[in-house]
Amino acid sequence: MLLIPMAVLRACVTAARSAHPNESLLLLQGRRDGENVRLSGARLPAGLSVDEDSAHFQPWMMPSSIDYIGVFHSHPSGGPHPSGADLFLASKEGGVQLLLAYPYSPDGLVAYDPRGQPLRYRIVP
Ligand SMILES: [Zn+2]
Repeated sequence: MLLIPMAVLRACVTAARSAHPNESLLLLQGRRDGENVRLSGARLPAGLSVDEDSAHFQPWMMPSSIDYIGVFHSHPSGGPHPSGADLFLASKEGGVQLLLAYPYSPDGLVAYDPRGQPLRYRIVP
């Protein structure tokens, strides 16, 4: 089970809405806790560039002291399914993938594991 604090959910929704009509992308911080993965934060990657159907950043500009556990990004054109490129990026950044498609309703958030299988999650305080 993936545990997503309300603050992280809010950060994702805000990022998606403010980037629209472009994609947004946030790196997710967190840690494994037994069977669960608990997210602890979401931050804008360094060197981020976005357009309407992709988002890129420069991994070598990231502070290496931070352990990332996954990636959030938005799909302005709708459709909450990860592309091959999405899965590849998430696998490099820890494996958890959060996706939010237009119109960015918080309850439309979907999570995937590194193989693209849906991941169950719960919003926590
Ligand atoms: Zn995507």
